[in-house]
Amino acid sequence: MILIPPSLQIPENRFILVNPNSKKPLEKRWNKDKNYPFDSPRLRSHLEKGGNCGILCGPSSQGIWVFDIDGPDLYECFKDIPTLTTNTPGRNGYHLFFISKMDVEYTNHIRGFPIDIIGRDHHAVIPPSIIDGKKYRVICDGEIMNRTPEKILKYLPSWDIPLFKLMVDAREIVSYYYPPHKRYSNHIKIECPFHFDRRPSMAIFENNYHCFGCGAHGDIITFVMNRLGIRFKEAIAEIERISCIECPKAKGGRFTSSVRRNNADYNLTRYVRNFLKRRCDKKRDGFTCKDKLLDEINNERRSQNRKNFSKNKLTRIMLEMGYKEIKPTINGVRVRAWKGIIMRGAL
Ligand SMILES: [Zn+2]
Repeated sequence: MILIPPSLQIPENRFILVNPNSKKPLEKRWNKDKNYPFDSPRLRSHLEKGGNCGILCGPSSQGIWVFDIDGPDLYECFKDIPTLTTNTPGRNGYHLFFISKMDVEYTNHIRGFPIDIIGRDHHAVIPPSIIDGKKYRVICDGEIMNRTPEKILKYLPSWDIPLFKLMVDAREIVSYYYPPHKRYSNHIKIECPFHFDRRPSMAIFENNYHCFGCGAHGDIITFVMNRLGIRFKEAIAEIERISCIECPKAKGGRFTSSVRRNNADYNLTRYVRNFLKRRCDKKRDGFTCKDKLLDEINNERRSQNRKNFSKNKLTRIMLEMGYKEIKPTINGVRVRAWKGIIMRGAL
């Protein structure tokens, strides 16, 4: 009896043998010639002996690609898509199967979310595979839809995760849970929360953490998820709460981390953030004049032979960073100011 999902049982699809209780392909040339149609006796006997199996994605299997979502909270956004969907054991993930004429490449952590796209020359493990006694289960037995990744990405929450990670300082968030043992110029040291650590082995940098004892490594979102045992969306909310910075919205959903890196605004945002960090009190319950702030930032930029930038740009960046524009009165004069900043001597 073949237990491969019926919508994958098409003569054009190619399947590979996967080691029992594993995701690793059994044969070396699995993406060259060691792959089989669904009714091959070799595949059947492998499954009967308790082996796992996977589908070879890309042109070898009529352009199948898989949207691999880590965690039920993000799957919520995609659950209404009626294409073939499986639940994967382990970290409770989801695989959505699609077909596309486009050449879909493997991409991990798409737009900073814990979501991968499995494409050409990669494989996705499928039912009836089992890992640690848990089965890959079909949870939506729909026909496989013809969609490009771009179409599916429209369902993503509109957060700009790469920008958010730049805006928050991992050291500040981690210090909230663990008073640092020692502070260095670009990192702090704490006792690693992921292994029994007698000396502080974990270094927290501005954008990530690394444990020299157990090798734990990741960004601030992973840290909060693993430390508190919470899901991605909850971790974003937690970081927003601690940092007082709102996760920015991606513009039209078209910014990816690579686009951001080449974008001049990316550097400007980083610049403004670092500037504010140097000059502002941590409590962020004061306010300061916009003109004064702009003057100071531009003065500093000029001293480094960089161009001035405009009030409009400052407004946009500050709003993106979660500061609020207000109009207080100082000595009877209305000023435009930013709530959330204390600048010593600014007013
Ligand atoms: Zn560790």
